[in-house]
Amino acid sequence: MSSTGNRLSTTCCIIGGGPAGIMLGFLLARHGIAVTVLEKYKDFFRDFRGDTIHPSTLELLYELGLLEKFLALPHSQISGLTAIIGGRRFKISDFSHLPTHAKFIALMPQWDFLNFLSTEAARFPSFKLRMGWEATGLIQTNDGTTTGVLANTPDGPVEIRAALTVGCDGRHAISRDAAHLPLIDEGVPIDILWLRIARQPSDPENALGYFNYGRFIILINRNDYFQIGYLIPKGAFPQIQQEGISAFQQSIERIVPFLAGRAAEIDSWDKVKLLTIQVNRLQDWCSPGLLCIGDAAHAMSPVGGIGINIALQDAVAAANILTESILTSGATVHDLQRVQHYRESAVRNTQRVQVFAHRILSRALQSTGPVTPPLALRIVTRIPGFQYLTGRFIGMGLQPQHVRKM
Ligand SMILES: Cc1cc2nc3c(=O)[nH]c(=O)nc-3n(C[C@H](O)[C@H](O)[C@H](O)COP(=O)(O)OP(=O)(O)OC[C@H]3O[C@@H](n4cnc5c(N)ncnc54)[C@H](O)[C@@H]3O)c2cc1C
Repeated sequence: MSSTGNRLSTTCCIIGGGPAGIMLGFLLARHGIAVTVLEKYKDFFRDFRGDTIHPSTLELLYELGLLEKFLALPHSQISGLTAIIGGRRFKISDFSHLPTHAKFIALMPQWDFLNFLSTEAARFPSFKLRMGWEATGLIQTNDGTTTGVLANTPDGPVEIRAALTVGCDGRHAISRDAAHLPLIDEGVPIDILWLRIARQPSDPENALGYFNYGRFIILINRNDYFQIGYLIPKGAFPQIQQEGISAFQQSIERIVPFLAGRAAEIDSWDKVKLLTIQVNRLQDWCSPGLLCIGDAAHAMSPVGGIGINIALQDAVAAANILTESILTSGATVHDLQRVQHYRESAVRNTQRVQVFAHRILSRALQSTGPVTPPLALRIVTRIPGFQYLTGRFIGMGLQPQHVRKM
């Protein structure tokens, strides 16, 4: 990256240091391409991100020679997903037969994953990560070609000129807004409340989903506490607040019996964050000089915990498709469209499955009494191969990617 005053220039400017942005930056810098990643926060410590590193992502780390080092970081491993519905345990998916080196999901706070990947990327001299730099707009020519990014930094505003800009800035991306890329919204009938409760050594290790009394609760093990996702019908939070915090505490303990006597630590609504779930996608992921990937191009629901995986796969696909042209003549809009054409159907089909799951969840959230596990679920989970197929969908996604050899 070269600089004069508050003007900088780089080959590729990536907006957003989430999974998609850091992985893409890593892969391009590995080929000697000058990359600047802008991340608006000063660190990666934020709660609302998922914590699941799936077998296909672990395989990418293996291909990059980083798997062993990564697995040396504190994490827990789950080789399958289980749901407790109406008090009965159902094995939903099994990762133990996947054709990958690591046949499990690694549960690790996402900030540890991003710190790890960005530290590894920083070994390449052409990788620059700018923390606390917030993109505020795009620099565009009169014909709408993006030629860089405007950013607010701790030292004031900066212009970053770039041959290619990639929007990896998530569900509220300014990149797609600034480029006026039209968004197709699927509409989602559920929202999620995000809270944490201290974990005790005798508690179950693995992430579990509990469904009963018209509520669905997901527990993510973060060693000394559980990150808890509490699904509610969209717009129901004010009513839940009106019913009072003690009714909310009781409902948590009723649905997850091993938390009995412990929900009292949620003693104020300040400890409960409402996260709006979105499922949407851009009609066009690119315009001249600009490509959007990850949640910026297609926001994923937390259902199945597959959003991070998909964002990382977008990054690998983009690097595989674009590296050559960036290194030679520069990426044309035709090159950028190839990324969308290659990835779009995997993303759309995954979103279809998530939208279908939302419908089932939304109907289930209307019930109030104790739940009897549906007959269909009891039958389907006994079909040989069912857990393998769901394990493959969740663990690898519909279009697993491979890092192109140097
Ligand atoms: C409640 C919830 C729970 C989830 N749980 C899971 C899960 O368990 N597993 C899973 O796989 N997926 C989960 N998902 C989905 C997952 O979080 C996303 O699909 C995934 O993070 C997308 O990665 P990304 O890199 O595209 O975007 P993001 O992770 O959203 O990263 C975008 C980055 O860009 C930065 N940024 C934004 N605007 C700017 C700007 N103007 N300038 C500079 N930087 C900017 C942000 O700070 C952020 O770091 C969950 C989603 C939700 C809502």
